Amino acid sequence: MKKTLKKGKVEEYIQIVARSLQLVGKKYKQYMNEGKSKNSNVMEKLISLCKRRGFIFQGSEIYGGLAGIYDYGPLGVEFRNNIKNYFWKAFITDREDTYGMSAAILMPEKVWQASGHTELFTDPLVECKICNERVRADQPEAIRDHESTHAKDGAKMAWSEPRVFNLLVETKLGASEKTATSVYLRGEITQGVHVNFKNVLDSMHPKIPFGIGQIGKAFRNEITPRDFLFRQREFEQMEIQYYIKPEEAEGERLFEYWKQFALEWYYGLGFKKESLRLRQHALDERAHYAKDAWDIEYNMPDVGWKEAWGIHHRGDWDLRRHSEFSKVDLSYFDETTKERFIPWDIECSGGVDRAVLFTLLEAYTEDELGGEPRAYLKLKPGMAPILAAVSPLLKNKPELQTKAREVFVMLKKEFGSIAYDDNGNIGKRYRRQDEIGTPWCIVIDFDTIGDPSNASGQEKTELLDTVTIRDRDTGAQERIAISELISYIKGRL
Ligand code: ATP
Repeated sequence: MKKTLKKGKVEEYIQIVARSLQLVGKKYKQYMNEGKSKNSNVMEKLISLCKRRGFIFQGSEIYGGLAGIYDYGPLGVEFRNNIKNYFWKAFITDREDTYGMSAAILMPEKVWQASGHTELFTDPLVECKICNERVRADQPEAIRDHESTHAKDGAKMAWSEPRVFNLLVETKLGASEKTATSVYLRGEITQGVHVNFKNVLDSMHPKIPFGIGQIGKAFRNEITPRDFLFRQREFEQMEIQYYIKPEEAEGERLFEYWKQFALEWYYGLGFKKESLRLRQHALDERAHYAKDAWDIEYNMPDVGWKEAWGIHHRGDWDLRRHSEFSKVDLSYFDETTKERFIPWDIECSGGVDRAVLFTLLEAYTEDELGGEPRAYLKLKPGMAPILAAVSPLLKNKPELQTKAREVFVMLKKEFGSIAYDDNGNIGKRYRRQDEIGTPWCIVIDFDTIGDPSNASGQEKTELLDTVTIRDRDTGAQERIAISELISYIKGRL
């Protein structure tokens, strides 16, 4: 969760931010440079690939777009679903101690008062005295970017004192202005789980420790949305709230367990060892309730280390506050020890869109194949939006088309995400499929159908019902029987 502060501390916070603005800039630059690679423009190339190939588009683009809002296209939505399914399987369905749920996006004001968000879910802003634009005071790169826009006019930069700005997105429900009530589009999905704690207890009777997880949209009025999917105003989160006994040793043990579990999960998306790290929050970085807080960070090309996941020891803050505000008892009764207590919560909170962006950045590869430069997505086979593309060698040969359709239908029935591709020549098809990360291209040629009209003019039956299967990363081709295709692919997933 965002860093929040106790009531009455806001003024002090403003002063600290003002004083530390220059220092932060220096420290931040040093820190970010640690993991900075040389300028490769990978982000620009990826944004262009995502649009050209139907992964991700600017939101409402034909109307000029909306800053910090993105739409997922046909391939993007499949890829994002693969990531979400991988999360759901690892954190929910493969485990015996966790439950899934799906809470509503709209929640009443009281929820956010209890969680502290209406008051304290804030970012410090400074206003440019030249053009009145506001940027985040705690984001030196945003300040630098803005200052560079004025540098060319030789204008003397000046900033206002920092002011706090609430990130919650408010809307109204009700038929008339008078009767309408304020509700909020949730700023984090976390609270949807905490407010249902008792419902899950009463319906599922879980034994502590246990977790409740969900995936869903969150909304933040980010002032400087930037870096493509990295900082958006509408985004998706995947989380688990893991409720434990309020004991120090148990808390430390399970906190360590979830840190490692989340990190391993992230590596499972296909990251190199050196691309990810765990970083502990400094004391002044933590939310006021946090007993401990760590981030999993990704070394973004050209940018440096950026948060992918937060693992937070939230203590009993959320359940205690919701008990107080709702007047509903949110304690847990332990049948074995006959004790009643408010559990502590260990939260693992990851951004779905950041996982999408970071996995694509990590997978983006440029090399040379057959003497030609190429760019491709080296995605893990199970994550790629299309698992295999089936093609007839030539488009205008009905016998090849018929056989290729047969193979396509067989594979589609088994795996779902199979494409039929007969556009352009075979070389172009390979490049296109490489660019979207398709692990295998399967080609039906004259040998597959034992056609005597091929080069030799002789009927060839020894290769009847075999196809070529090409590997995306090496470009190497193998010939295998159609009857073995399913087990070949399954064996490599
Ligand atoms: P940041 O410091 O980058 O603003 P945060 O600490 O506020 O992030 P959390 O409140 O811990 O983030 O949210 C959990 C996760 O949700 C983050 O680790 C990140 O992956 C994702 N997330 C948060 N804000 C955004 C955003 N504006 N756009 C996309 N993903 C986000």
